[in-house]
Amino acid sequence: MSRITWPLFTVEEIFPLEETNGFEFRRICLQTVTEPDWAQRLERTISRLREVPYLQEIPISSSGRPANLLEVGRALAAGLERLAIPLDVANPQLYTALKGGSLPRVYRLLKEAAERYPQQVTTHLIVGLGETEEELAALLLDLAQSQIPVALFAFTPVRSTRLARQKPPSLKGYRRIQVLRYLLAQNLPVKLTYGEQGAITSFGYSHQELEALLSSGAAFQTSGCPDCNRPYYNERPGQIPYNYPRPLTANEVEQAFAELWE
Ligand code: SF4
Repeated sequence: MSRITWPLFTVEEIFPLEETNGFEFRRICLQTVTEPDWAQRLERTISRLREVPYLQEIPISSSGRPANLLEVGRALAAGLERLAIPLDVANPQLYTALKGGSLPRVYRLLKEAAERYPQQVTTHLIVGLGETEEELAALLLDLAQSQIPVALFAFTPVRSTRLARQKPPSLKGYRRIQVLRYLLAQNLPVKLTYGEQGAITSFGYSHQELEALLSSGAAFQTSGCPDCNRPYYNERPGQIPYNYPRPLTANEVEQAFAELWE
């Protein structure tokens, strides 16, 4: 999805959605952009969606940049099951340079919102924007303390953008962050050690213990809201996926585990 074109449609062209064309929808996600009437537009879109008979029961998520707690409450009250307030960038200087604004300010709002609306407020983190694994790990540990679910993304260079020449993250670095997110989401204790350039060298488990903990392969599947699998969101078909959009085969689990330290 990072790599495809996004054709414009008017709301009138989209509604009414009469046919599912055989697709079974399990979750709707409304990706929004920052604009002054953000909350009102979200409310209008959700109520239009709820008028469609087969979409009435489907949980709706959204990812946006609310300005304050009031807007968070308003978005949730409009019918969202979950609202992601994306941090995206783990390093404060890079955050300001890449997204504009202040990471501490957004982080404060995220934590306040999660405290007020537990399990309804989530976040996104992008791996590979120039941050260290240690910075990402510190953030993941703190987010786990506040019980804020995290969806992980791998940075994807997109042609004609500012970061077009920047490389995507290494698979091994991404796997380590996936493992940490998974262990924390399972409420498992971790004892991290770091090596050169802040790379994680241990999670505090032996090789065999870690292999057993990761044997289901769930750590390497797409993370985030239930049923959000974002196939090929940040990888090309034919490539080993950063995020598997489906359960892994036994061979894929073995391979993903081996990729951790390769
Ligand atoms: S995890 Fe998926 S469904 Fe949830 S907000 Fe993020 S992109 Fe949307």
